[in-house]
Amino acid sequence: MAKVNIPNFKLNNGRDIPALGYGTWLGFDDKTDIDMTDLPKLVDTLSYAIDIGYRHIDTAHLYRVEPEVGQVINKKIKEGVVKREDLFVTTKVWQHFHREADVEVSVRASLRRLNLDYVDLVLMHWPMSITQDGVDEKIDYLETWRGFETVLKKGLAKAIGVSNFNVEQLKRLLANSKVVPASNQIEINLNLGQKELVDFCQAHNIVVVAYSPFGTMVPSHAAPGSPEPKLNNPTMVSIAKKYGKTVTQVTLRYLFQRGLISIPKTVSKSRVVENADIFDFVLDENDVKTLAEFDNGYRTVPCSFWQDYANYPFEKTDVKLEIPLALRKWKNGANQDID
Ligand code: NDP
Repeated sequence: MAKVNIPNFKLNNGRDIPALGYGTWLGFDDKTDIDMTDLPKLVDTLSYAIDIGYRHIDTAHLYRVEPEVGQVINKKIKEGVVKREDLFVTTKVWQHFHREADVEVSVRASLRRLNLDYVDLVLMHWPMSITQDGVDEKIDYLETWRGFETVLKKGLAKAIGVSNFNVEQLKRLLANSKVVPASNQIEINLNLGQKELVDFCQAHNIVVVAYSPFGTMVPSHAAPGSPEPKLNNPTMVSIAKKYGKTVTQVTLRYLFQRGLISIPKTVSKSRVVENADIFDFVLDENDVKTLAEFDNGYRTVPCSFWQDYANYPFEKTDVKLEIPLALRKWKNGANQDID
């Protein structure tokens, strides 16, 4: 069996975090509900990923897969493949749980679904607070963060962090709270370099985790009219050929050389190996410069349907879409049956 060797970065709490993780968001179906078709494959691939050396798993309440992710983890511990302390498990608190006291409720429910005593990192999924009925609650994320500090103090999470926070929101959080977030999980890929935000985080010892690291490169995220590079982009293909790697490996390696952690999602065993086989080559300065030139600020995950909500973190656009079903009322609702 192939084995992968993934190095660690350090969090500001002194703990290690593997520089590459396994993403568990299954994406939307054609009704914008979560597409659960591949859940059995996700379980199988995650199990394989742990067998070959993945130690970092990224999940969230929203993804509706915490029970299955927890089953895989506990099975691997039982089989003696890993010990709990070898794994780095991240989950996230959804927008319905932004009142200070609700953060602990959400984290305890995640732990119950995962069947774990603690997570290594828990993130505020978004800075906005929205009820299950889609009402903008306008709860200050400073209040929510106090709930995160409590969860940390109680040992339910070894580290706390945020996701989708912009520079202004981070500055305000740092100026008004006790614990510096260990991480900010944001979209970063070749189209969206996020230099200013990454520089800010790195200057403040906040580890940056890049979600949707392939951007529009992969067919599932290549909306009509979305920019290059795609998998067959000639510049990418020629750089990949030079190093004897694939275009996706060059992309993940580029992010790693920027000091970023990537959490690609795949339900393919060969890709799980491919995505982690990026630690044995170094992109040279010229290629790094060429890759940086793809940055055009294009967001794969703009979530512009939330742009009128308080604390929406991105630039507003003219595109106003309906909120996807999977992100609307779902607790005990018509969607996947998870509390
Ligand atoms: P990714 O950039 O990981 O792209 C996933 C897609 O790429 C899938 O269609 C997958 O297909 C394909 N793929 C994976 N590896 C390869 C490869 N080597 N070659 C070709 N295609 C490949 O996007 P995600 O949006 O899934 O982001 C990754 C993770 O980040 C999520 O799973 C989630 O954990 C997290 N996330 C967090 C967000 C947040 O708000 N904090 C928002 C979005 C994501 P296949 O499965 O068929 O291999």
